Amino acid sequence: MEPFLYKRPQNAESAVRDASGSRRGVPAVQAAQQFIAGGTNLTDYMKLNVMRPEVLVDINRLSGSEYGKIEVSDRGLRIGALVRMAEAEDHPVIQSRYPVMHDTLKLAASRQIRNMASLGGNVLQRTRCEYFRETSWPCNKRNPGSGCSALDGVNRAHAVLGTSEQCIATYPGDFALALIALDAKVETIGPRGRRTIGFADLHIEPGTRPNVETVLEPGELITFYTVPAGAWTQRSRYLKIRDRDSYQFALASAAVALDLQGDTVREARIALGGVATVPWRAQKAEASLKGQPLNEETASKAAELAFEGAATREHNAFKVPLGKQTIVRALLEAKAMRI
Ligand code: SF4
Repeated sequence: MEPFLYKRPQNAESAVRDASGSRRGVPAVQAAQQFIAGGTNLTDYMKLNVMRPEVLVDINRLSGSEYGKIEVSDRGLRIGALVRMAEAEDHPVIQSRYPVMHDTLKLAASRQIRNMASLGGNVLQRTRCEYFRETSWPCNKRNPGSGCSALDGVNRAHAVLGTSEQCIATYPGDFALALIALDAKVETIGPRGRRTIGFADLHIEPGTRPNVETVLEPGELITFYTVPAGAWTQRSRYLKIRDRDSYQFALASAAVALDLQGDTVREARIALGGVATVPWRAQKAEASLKGQPLNEETASKAAELAFEGAATREHNAFKVPLGKQTIVRALLEAKAMRI
């Protein structure tokens, strides 16, 4: 680990000032100043020398303010980015009215990590691609222009949707899938003031610049998530398929939410994890279900549409049938929920 300067500001405005100063155009993940809250991902990557910030801006003093609280209203949820994963997981309204959010939290990492990790940092966690983590390998995300070792390497865990010839790394998070499925928005404060971003617009597919992972600028801090109330939030479910049943990343996962009238779909939301480079919303699949009875046949058709255009490599082709089966099962299990 490289030496770094440690700052512990009192409020969000000071935190932004402390974290500003990078040249314009530098991707947020490569800025010399980085925010730290739980530190469950950042400190790992600092120890591995994958990330080498010169300044760490500790934002934990903000936890006692509105940034550490969950507000509930008829319009939905407003969740401070300093809320810990475990706090949100234990929240009675999230458990009863937004079960897909609860499930994405409960099935992530371990309870010890969830006690530490903030929701702001959670959605920004970085890929666990082995070649990204080990600095002796070429990796366009870590070292732009050096190449992608995963394309012809061991790529069983890698993505099949949203990939490019420069990067096929899988987005590793779970909570982001609930946020994208439920049309959440992200509020931020940064060097140019405050703004609100649709959660679906936060992450960027790798394209030709895999080192640019989000639309956030250096020094821009996530402050809140807003999750609108909807008729579909209560009948919602997260299904996560992985090599072992605990403390493991998804091979394929589906966050689904349904508004049903009898057996007929009024509204469906489907987000996919473990198979894509960014939190992935399957909108064509959702549209195919609207107005249809939900059964194995219509769910299978939706699953086919969700994986249209999937690009597989030597070891990860199994993710296409696995991902389709995950969608079908998640949809049918959501339909069967008693609410
Ligand atoms: Fe790097 Fe992406 Fe290739 Fe992994 S898949 S080696 S993160 S460029």
